[in-house]
Amino acid sequence: MDQNKLLSQLNAFTRRAHTLDEVYLFDVILCDNEIDRDGDCFSDSALAELQKRFVGVTGIFDHDPRSGNQNARIFRTEIVTDPERKTKTGQPYRCLKANAYMVRTDGNADLIREIDAGIKKEVSISCAVGKQICSVCGADRLKAPCSHIKGRTYGGKLCYTTLDCVNDVYEWSFVAVPAQRGAGVTKTLGGKQTDPEKEMLRDACEKANQLLDQLTDDLRKDVIRLCYRNGESVYAKVLADSTIHMDAGALSRLKHSLLTGIQAAEGGRTAPQLMPEQDQPKSLTEYRVGGKTEV
Ligand SMILES: [Zn+2]
Repeated sequence: MDQNKLLSQLNAFTRRAHTLDEVYLFDVILCDNEIDRDGDCFSDSALAELQKRFVGVTGIFDHDPRSGNQNARIFRTEIVTDPERKTKTGQPYRCLKANAYMVRTDGNADLIREIDAGIKKEVSISCAVGKQICSVCGADRLKAPCSHIKGRTYGGKLCYTTLDCVNDVYEWSFVAVPAQRGAGVTKTLGGKQTDPEKEMLRDACEKANQLLDQLTDDLRKDVIRLCYRNGESVYAKVLADSTIHMDAGALSRLKHSLLTGIQAAEGGRTAPQLMPEQDQPKSLTEYRVGGKTEV
């Protein structure tokens, strides 16, 4: 859209006639429907709601000490669809584009040059959403958090959260590091700034969970090996299959029971559970490959 047409839209919006010398017009991508680095994406209806609510909202440049009262305001928004480009979930790519203006002053000449030069192009938005839907099980994480972890795959299904039911928007601002890959957007859900301490805790929890998952998988493999140690009977298969539903604690107890049983069956032989924990998988493999059952 050309500048004069935009200017007439702005003047209709502000009910005061500005000239192109007085105002600086620019556009920003506020957000899109791609999964961002937090593992979130906006639903189509959320984008439509954001489109309505962001008209008239003020942008801030608070990271800049020179900013003072340098404000920009959105006077027009539109949803732009790129049918050629698909999101990770296979949807046509859609983004929320906004036209903003600033009244030119001596104080914001530098800022305008930076926006023009594309130095300032990453935008963050603050909004509140009423629903955060898990892509795997459909649970609303706000009401009933599920155990699925964003970014992981469950049965071939990528876990991410769809943000829906936008019930408020707060502000938008230029930032250094965007969360949304395509749009150059970070977002603050619920209108609160993210707490760095909480973020660190969340990262630590996620790492610990990943490690626990891996150890549980290893433990499960050990137990399955032990189940089939004496051949593939129906009982061995039932027991081995049941491990899929067991957590680390249950697997550990089962492993201990199986090893105790093996030790009892083998009489005086040196039993594997007397070896250090880290040697067990190796020794079990040897048992399985080398010589099963000298009982
Ligand atoms: Zn879920």
